[in-house]
Amino acid sequence: MVTVAVLGQQVAIGPTKLLINNEWVESVSSRRFATINPTTGEVICEVAEADAPDVDQAVQAARKAFSSGEWPKMSATRRGELLYKLADLIEQHIDELARLETLDNGKPLQDSLGDLQLVIACYRYYAGWADKVQGKTIPINGPYFCYTRHEPVGVVGQIIPWNFPLLMQAWKLAPALATGNTVVMKTAEQAPLSALRVGELIIEAGFPPGVVNILSGYGPTAGAAIARHMDIDKVAFTGSTEVGHLIMEASAKSNLKRVTLELGGKSPNIVFADADLHAAIAGAHNAIFFNQGQCCCAGSRLFVEEKCYDDFVARTVERAKRRIVGDPFDTTTEQGPQVDKDQFDRVLDYIESGRRGGAEMLCGGNQVGERGFFIAPTVFADVRDDMKIAQEEIFGPVMSIIKFKDIDEVIQRANATMYGLAAAVWTKDITKALAIANNVRAGTVWVNCYDVFDAAAPFGGFKQSGMGRELGEYGLQQYTEIKTVTIKL
Ligand code: ADP
Repeated sequence: MVTVAVLGQQVAIGPTKLLINNEWVESVSSRRFATINPTTGEVICEVAEADAPDVDQAVQAARKAFSSGEWPKMSATRRGELLYKLADLIEQHIDELARLETLDNGKPLQDSLGDLQLVIACYRYYAGWADKVQGKTIPINGPYFCYTRHEPVGVVGQIIPWNFPLLMQAWKLAPALATGNTVVMKTAEQAPLSALRVGELIIEAGFPPGVVNILSGYGPTAGAAIARHMDIDKVAFTGSTEVGHLIMEASAKSNLKRVTLELGGKSPNIVFADADLHAAIAGAHNAIFFNQGQCCCAGSRLFVEEKCYDDFVARTVERAKRRIVGDPFDTTTEQGPQVDKDQFDRVLDYIESGRRGGAEMLCGGNQVGERGFFIAPTVFADVRDDMKIAQEEIFGPVMSIIKFKDIDEVIQRANATMYGLAAAVWTKDITKALAIANNVRAGTVWVNCYDVFDAAAPFGGFKQSGMGRELGEYGLQQYTEIKTVTIKL
């Protein structure tokens, strides 16, 4: 395996070709594209670039593995065993995978290791489900015996983003495979390497050819080819709301493939004066700055009650100034670079818009260092609801603090967005906590915590934050069709 030396570290690079039918192949066009190390701005290596003809080949392989029955009709217990085996292999290679993720994405090594714990748990969770997917017997009228079967949807296209490459791969692959679907996955062009290495482990685990196909490539080419493909039965997408619209449109214009979407957010994080402020300050800090602010569920609208506002803001700024930004391979680092130059520029543009719009910038706002895509943790106070930084998803380390007076007002303002992915509330008053939990229109509400994820707990969006749920038992429903069988007695 090729290794590269980066910041004094040796990192092993796995495969760089396309995985189709358990073989590593160059793209039909022979084109390759560079993946960049966001810590330095330098090229790590080039990977094969898929386009529509490669998607066709991958779909053919996936269709064959599905129609031959090799995968969907394999004993469900055996499918579960293969998923357990994959989880074990990932665990055995956890350090190597974490380093590769950090190299390609820029996230701190400690965070990559944290992601990998969730990755392993996700494969194991759905491995356990594989032989527990079952229908019902239904007492219909007349001399009939009626039952349902939960059958796999078929060939599934999965398009994943760059902010959690390994974790998004797990969230998508694990439930699809447990239920007997075959997969054509397109990774994000910004960070394709770790998912390809998992592809190697998938082969090693013993998954039959064609069950999992992994393509690196761009959205408007390879991604769009998946979304409009006539022989893909379902597409599962995680990314921007803007592209989510395109995916649905492509489905409508092609074969009405099933669509599940996990999209953007502008999640309200609400702090009442009666909260444990120490915990709320730490929680609000992580809610926005974790993963360089590159989380769809980031707590990006921080509503703070007037009564504790000044104290909260002062302590929050003090914490943000202490955040350690730098070499993501250093285990003390809390924040690495943004994933690429585009994101870096976008975030700096939003910061400029916040400044011009009249929000008070209390720290940050600038690049850190001279190379790579590092941005200082930035805190804006006195943000108004109508400012761009309070409306649009920034996807960077930029906190927007907004003052509120009472609970009815904050519920109404929290809901005044097209998004509805997540929300949080910090309070010791159970009545207030439940009022927020019940009235904020979001797919997940955290009370006195943030970003608590578990393979068993469903995640997804209200409104334009998405359709369908991932994880948990609910996540399985998105990967099965219900068949009703009625027998005359
Ligand atoms: P982000 O802005 O966070 O990069 P995107 O929605 O652009 O989010 O990207 C998420 C995923 O969607 C990536 O894998 C990307 O390549 C893919 N993608 C982007 N544009 C399209 C498109 N037009 N059709 C299908 N997939 C796309």
